[in-house]
Amino acid sequence: MKILIINAGSSSLKYQFMDSDTGDVYAKGLCERIGIDGRLTHKVPGRENVCRDIPMPTHNEAITAVLEVMLDPVTGVISSTDEIDAVGHRVLHGGAEFSESCVITDECIAAIERCIPFGPLHNPANLMGIRACMEAMPGKKQVAVFDTAFHMTMPPRAYIYAIPYEYYEKDGVRRYGFHGTSHRYIAGQALRALGRENNPEGTKVISCHLGNGSSLAAIVDGKVIDTSMGLGPLAGFPMGTRSGDVDPTILEYLMGIYGWDIKTMLNVLNKKSGVLGISGVSSDFRDLTAAAESGNERAALALEKFAYEVKKYIGSYAAAMGGVDAIVFTAGVGENDAAMRMRIASGLEYMGVKMDAERNATRGVEEISAEDSKVKVFVIPTNEELMIAMDTAELCK
Ligand code: AMP
Repeated sequence: MKILIINAGSSSLKYQFMDSDTGDVYAKGLCERIGIDGRLTHKVPGRENVCRDIPMPTHNEAITAVLEVMLDPVTGVISSTDEIDAVGHRVLHGGAEFSESCVITDECIAAIERCIPFGPLHNPANLMGIRACMEAMPGKKQVAVFDTAFHMTMPPRAYIYAIPYEYYEKDGVRRYGFHGTSHRYIAGQALRALGRENNPEGTKVISCHLGNGSSLAAIVDGKVIDTSMGLGPLAGFPMGTRSGDVDPTILEYLMGIYGWDIKTMLNVLNKKSGVLGISGVSSDFRDLTAAAESGNERAALALEKFAYEVKKYIGSYAAAMGGVDAIVFTAGVGENDAAMRMRIASGLEYMGVKMDAERNATRGVEEISAEDSKVKVFVIPTNEELMIAMDTAELCK
């Protein structure tokens, strides 16, 4: 089936038009500056990119612009919207309401609305994308694919926070986890690489999604038993600009000194922290590596801290699972930064991880552990869009 995938943010909207059976991408692009002015970038494999300034006061105009550029005789890839079999939406937070993807109905929209308090920035934007598609393509089947859904198999001991239980019962405060669509794809690919896709029972995989936002998931029998992000995506280990877990005392202390309200404090933790905060250089690992190589000590410290915290999570998940068969690296840093992979995985020989430096340094090699490594280490490019397309196709058959 031919599926249009929409990932709507508050002022941006990414789209991809792809074949759910083959994974072929016909077109993809980005609408930026929605609500400000509006800019569309449209890419079709083998053709020159199209960049246009188009007024986009709301997501409705953005979707209209996407459909127009896809239908255009010169830039387009379809001659009628009938060629779009269904639309799949990435939705950030499904709370405890969704453990899998669902066809968008009034009830589904109401449930996504109920989850807005958990994803106050993303869920309203995701809903704008859904509503804009409903208006532009009335009657077209649409599916919501949640970032949280794959983590719903976690046992209570992993998702409960040690605060009064009533806040879990009454207010839904618990670990939800994110990057679920990526971790699900990686879990499936890891089982394939282990030759265990048909008998996942007993397999233990650690999926390391290391990008601008990062999280780890511990996956037993193909199901998540723990993950590093929490109620929101700020939790876990340091990321590009997010702090990861911090001692809550820091919040009270800094808010007291600088007179910040909680919004300002959270802005510091979300946007100015992580490896950017430590280094003062950049959130991009390429910049950090270059800076560290030219002697910037804080950039070096940021990289060291990142590797150290990821390594600690790997150790704790191996302990939680009682062993590990495979560690998989994915996303921008995980797929591209061989030095960071080496830093993270070195020193884990005691638990059976033995890296092959040459394989690790070779682009496109999937298995980067040594032949005699007890624990397999893989680099597998993630493909969240394909997962969204496959779910959408499955639910709209
Ligand atoms: P993502 O969020 O998965 O798109 O990852 C984006 C991040 O990947 C960027 O901010 C970079 O830090 C990192 N990245 C991308 N390419 C490379 C590379 N060749 N070497 C190191 N880091 C990279």
